[in-house]
Amino acid sequence: MADEGFMLGVIGGSGLYDFADLTGERVEAVETPYGAPSDAVVVGALHGVPVAFLPRHGRGHRHSPTDLPYRANVYALKALGVTHLVSVSAVGSLREHIHPRSVVLTDQLIDRTLTRPRSFFEGGAVAHVGIGDPFCPTLRATLHGLAGDASGAEVHAAGTYVCIEGPQFSTRAESALYRSWGASVIGMTAMPEARLAREAELCYAMLAMVTDYDVWQEDEADVSVELVTANLEANVATARAAIRALVRAALPARTCGCKDALRGAITTDPARIPDETRRKLGIIGDRYLPPVAG
Ligand SMILES: [Zn+2]
Repeated sequence: MADEGFMLGVIGGSGLYDFADLTGERVEAVETPYGAPSDAVVVGALHGVPVAFLPRHGRGHRHSPTDLPYRANVYALKALGVTHLVSVSAVGSLREHIHPRSVVLTDQLIDRTLTRPRSFFEGGAVAHVGIGDPFCPTLRATLHGLAGDASGAEVHAAGTYVCIEGPQFSTRAESALYRSWGASVIGMTAMPEARLAREAELCYAMLAMVTDYDVWQEDEADVSVELVTANLEANVATARAAIRALVRAALPARTCGCKDALRGAITTDPARIPDETRRKLGIIGDRYLPPVAG
């Protein structure tokens, strides 16, 4: 039975471009104050739970990690009613024990991106949300309890994701550096997605799907396209199984702090926020800022 008012958003990463078995499916071409999202959002229900699915790179994989419309993606999903957001992301493993085709319920992030807009707040509006724990602990724990049994895959309860700018993979020296920092997996898209999900007050968790060992493991053949493709396909099946199990079990109650992340975080005097800025913030600011006329 679906919880009242809850909706699951799924952002599909490399390899996951559709979610075939939604009932009552409709396609929503959402426009946002931050432009169009990566693609149309498919909205429907899975085991009675409302679900909105967005392929992160667009169907046909058109957007690079640098060029992704991260703000439009998160805004569009929130506008459709999403409360819980699961990011499915292909990653490389930085640890021997985190094998290809396993899943990591990441709990920490290191941001090594360089050029991406990372906040909805700009143009005379300042907000400082906390991201000490950038993923929702409740949604992570729920997924951890379900994903392994549902998919048969090895599931790791926690791990640190280092997000690089890309689009190239890392050098051996960089890979060794990230290992020395204690990072578990490496990818290109978790930031600023996690920052924006927190500003949008969504419960956000990641299924980090391991495709390969990155380049640090010098006795392995360097990452081959064939191997990565086969692992990606296996990982897509795992992600689908985990998401089905999540909705079957019902989305967890929002006892975490995610839904109130912006409370007290907007530092700017609302009277001094320019109308244009307030309009652009749209639904992101609705709980905390007065509307503007026009
Ligand atoms: Zn939460």
